[in-house]
Formats: sequence, structure tokens, C-alpha cells
Amino acid sequence: MKVHLIRSAELDKELFTSVVTLLQAVPGPIKFSFDADSIIDFDQDEIERKTFEDEEEFVTTINYSLKAEKGSYFFPRNSGVTSWKTLFNKCNDYRRKNKVDNAEFVFLLTELPNNKNWFASVDENNPLNGFIHAADWSFYIDCPEQFPIAYEVIALFLHYHTYSSLDEMKENVHQKAIGCINDFCLNKKDIILKLRTADICSTCMMKIKTRLSQLMIRHALEIMESLRVKMLYSQNFKQESPLSKILIDRNKKIFLPDFENIEIKLTPLEKALYLLFLKYPNGIYMSSLFEHRSELYEIYGAISSNGDLQEMKQRIDDLVNALSDSASQKISKIKKAFENAIGEDLAKNYYIKGGNGEVKRIILDRSLVVLPNSISS
Ligand SMILES: [Zn+2]
Repeated sequence: MKVHLIRSAELDKELFTSVVTLLQAVPGPIKFSFDADSIIDFDQDEIERKTFEDEEEFVTTINYSLKAEKGSYFFPRNSGVTSWKTLFNKCNDYRRKNKVDNAEFVFLLTELPNNKNWFASVDENNPLNGFIHAADWSFYIDCPEQFPIAYEVIALFLHYHTYSSLDEMKENVHQKAIGCINDFCLNKKDIILKLRTADICSTCMMKIKTRLSQLMIRHALEIMESLRVKMLYSQNFKQESPLSKILIDRNKKIFLPDFENIEIKLTPLEKALYLLFLKYPNGIYMSSLFEHRSELYEIYGAISSNGDLQEMKQRIDDLVNALSDSASQKISKIKKAFENAIGEDLAKNYYIKGGNGEVKRIILDRSLVVLPNSISS
């Protein structure tokens, strides 16, 4: 069963990619596909522009709850609002253009608020269409936004398999949150309960079982569980965990197998720098990074398969140039990537650290490092 995820132009590409990565991380029969080049644009007449003078007006008109932290927004504030009809038309346009099979899902992820103040819904005319409002989550939930958004994708998928119509859904969703995927969260904050339980209540499970195979249900539950655990890591709740091995697979992707196989997403250049530091347990001074230029050429060449050789060399030359801050920037990006994935405390064991002018190193016990042959030699 296939779920096509599409994004509107204003939605951050990195956030979108993180959502897709989370959903694809657990293998199983539900397939999540996305087309990186396909971006959904809205025409001006599809968006109603409004100016909100103060918080009160904003909150009561388009915001999703009254629970945003005070001061989250500045006023007067301009905001566009679109209609459900427009959102689902976008899904239908995508279906037509890409000849999507009628039995497959198309979910639009957008930052545009909608006129009914919902943050996710299926289309009553074609419940295989859906939208998810992908903005502002951080005001409500203390975790990276990709978690609630990925969770909502699974929720829409399961709503479809629990209820036969939007009307049935409206009547039967849990108005009061009980920690079931079918909780109707009018309030963005309520979703945290669903995320923490990653569960389907017995009433809903009975309904789902009549419409969805055991294999699919198990896969959906596994994805929900993996989101739950990864979210705990990212929120710094798992700091007592013994350290995980770090594994670089054949495709040069970085995983932490003992932490729910979380993937650490780095750009090829960041990855090259990281792998270089992994090779040197005693660390490297920034001022002597240039001595590792040819080694970096080699590692970068092994990671980044496409690209002009001259251009690649130029990037490495910039990286090792003590006068540029390219390496420092990469090092802080790497740190951020680990912190976002596993929380600040655990991350310290994995990223490159060291004060100004001091040697920089990764303190991780190298017996925990598993490298492919092409890099470890
Ligand atoms: Zn339920």
C-alpha cells in the first residue's frame, strides 16, 4: 500500500525530508514515496491574506488552540489562509499529473493554515486524500516538528481504515484524548499524549482489523513505536541508556543501531569530516586539518558519488583552509544533528568537540564504531 507525500512550496525541504526519513525507517508493507522535485504551489486567489492586529484575533481566527506560549507570535502579523477545497484540489491535481493509482494515498504537507482550523484531515469526497498542517508545532510540543507530523501521516492512514466516511469519523473519534491514534485533537498540545502512548485503543483496533491486514497493522504500530522512542531520545529522556554502536553502512549512511536505529543525517561534506575525525581517536587540531587534505579527498570521493572532481576538490580545499570557517560550521552542524536526534547529553559522546585552539576529537570508544571496508582501510 502506497502513500504519496507531497509538500507545498513554503514548507521547509529539510523538515519534509526528515518526516519522510522517519516514516521510511521501519521496513514493511506500507510504502511512503515522495517526489523531491514536485512542489505544490498556491495561486494568489487560493490564499486569503489577512492581517491580525493582536494575539486574541489571531488565536480565535486561525490558530489551532489557545495554548501557544505567550509571545510566540509578533503582531501585527500577516498570514495566509486557504480552504479545504483548495488543499484537496492540490491532491487531485497531483493524482492526475502523476497518474497515481486510485487505491493509493496522497497526503499534502503544508504550512498554510486552513479555514476550518484543523491540523490534519482526510477529504470527504476522496478519503485517500489528506492534508497535514506542518507549521508551528514547536510552540505546542517540546520536540522536533518531524515527530508529530510523521505521526499525523500514520494517523490519517489509520483514520481511513477505521471509519468509512468523514461523518462516521467525526461522530466516533475520541473527543476526549485517551491516548489512541483516533483521539480528536482540537488542540495541538493534545497530540503529545498520542505520541507518548503510540497506541490504538481496543474499540478502534476492532474496527481497523476488519479493514486492514495484520501485516499492515503491525507495520503501522511499529512505525508509531519507533516515533515514540526516537522522540524520547530527541527530548533528552533516554540519557541513562548505554551508548550505542555507530554504524556507517554501505551507502555511507550513519545509524545508531542500539538507539532504535536512528539515522544521523549529514551532508556528504559533513560526513567526510566526521569520518576523518572517527579515524583519529586522539583528535586533530584545526590548524593542521590541511595535512589531511588527500585523505579527505578520498573519503569524500567514496561518499559523494556524483559531482565534478574539480568541484569536489575545491570544497575540500575550502574545508581544510584554516582561514575559512567552513570546518567550524560543519562541526557545529554535526553537533546539532546528533543533539536533535539523541538529546544533548548522549550526543556529547558522538560529536566532534574541543575548545578554540585545542585539539578537536570524538571521545567515543572506537570499539563502538562499525565502518564499511571502503572507509576503514
Ligand atoms: Zn480509539
